Amino acid sequence: MTEHRYGLGDRGPAVAEIRTKLVQLGILPPTEESTESTESAVDAVFDQRVDQAVRQFQQQRGLTAHGVVDSETYRVLEEARWRLGDRLLSYVAGHLLIGDDVGTLQRRLLELGFEIDRVDGVYGPKTEHAVKEFQRSVGAPSDGTCGPATFKALARLSPIVTGGRADALRESERVHRSGPRLPGKVVVIDPGHGGADRGCSANGLSEAEIAFDLASRIEGRLAATGVRVFLTRGRDASPDEATRARFANETNADLVVSLHVDEHPNPQASGVATYFYGTAGSDDDMRSTLGERFAGLVQREIVARTDLRDCHTHAKTWDLLRHTQMPTVRVELGYVSNPGDASRISDPGFRDVVAEAIVVAVQRVYLPPDMDTPTGVLQLGELIR
Ligand SMILES: [Zn+2]
Repeated sequence: MTEHRYGLGDRGPAVAEIRTKLVQLGILPPTEESTESTESAVDAVFDQRVDQAVRQFQQQRGLTAHGVVDSETYRVLEEARWRLGDRLLSYVAGHLLIGDDVGTLQRRLLELGFEIDRVDGVYGPKTEHAVKEFQRSVGAPSDGTCGPATFKALARLSPIVTGGRADALRESERVHRSGPRLPGKVVVIDPGHGGADRGCSANGLSEAEIAFDLASRIEGRLAATGVRVFLTRGRDASPDEATRARFANETNADLVVSLHVDEHPNPQASGVATYFYGTAGSDDDMRSTLGERFAGLVQREIVARTDLRDCHTHAKTWDLLRHTQMPTVRVELGYVSNPGDASRISDPGFRDVVAEAIVVAVQRVYLPPDMDTPTGVLQLGELIR
């Protein structure tokens, strides 16, 4: 697929469209030219202000804030423009509706006490189910489609939960119920890239290989504790992110760990970072609370057990994080372009330590506060089988 990218200095109708979207979102103030509408779309310029607005948008939405409108940023811009009531909402298998209107709907249903696992802006089967329940409860035809009558009913009712994060409570309640024992739990390990896609490569290291090797080390340790482990790919396969997410959903995994390494033109760049599903900033942000907690545990266990630089945890809306229904984290385990990180990563002993850190983090997700241990001290032999 050829990818169109728009950035500073570009001009033309596509830039005009991007500017219009940013103005509609209230991120870019309307210019005099555009309010006078004397400027033709062909002359629309991607200037400094547009660049700033795009970066701000990307930051708000958990995308990498590089100021370039690539296909991912464009897609998220598209999703952001929908307001609840703008269009009919329904569940279509294989072609899910995604947008801010769906996020608003999910938040509203949650406030009203209906079961939504996560506010993610995706109209999936669970959202359809919640809408049907809602329709039944107000005596409307329960077809799972949100049209004008449903929008009106939603607006009429006052929430029974206010200010709370009902989805967060529900997520932690499920973890609490499942108890601390590891046997029977399902973890999907996702070695990044694979096949023809080798990922980052520098200093004789290939990301696809590192990720697969690390996945095997984690798999062995987790399986020994009784956890059922699945890998999203074979050694030479390279499924896309959506396929990986679907796989995790179909195995009904409790947790997903995606493994990557990073690279940067500047060889000084180094360190480990862990990502979870979410958008940054405002109060009505979307995020997986448990994903955030899991990411924190993974990051802290790795930092405590290795001498990798701590690049912290961050909310992102990458497809795998968003489309998995369970807490999912993505670990970027150091920079192959950094000589120090590269020599660590190539050491099998280091990979074992990282595998152990991740297994311990999985266990800690399920430990109630009174049983939890400080970071860096729990050993494999002490896991609860
Ligand atoms: Zn990668």
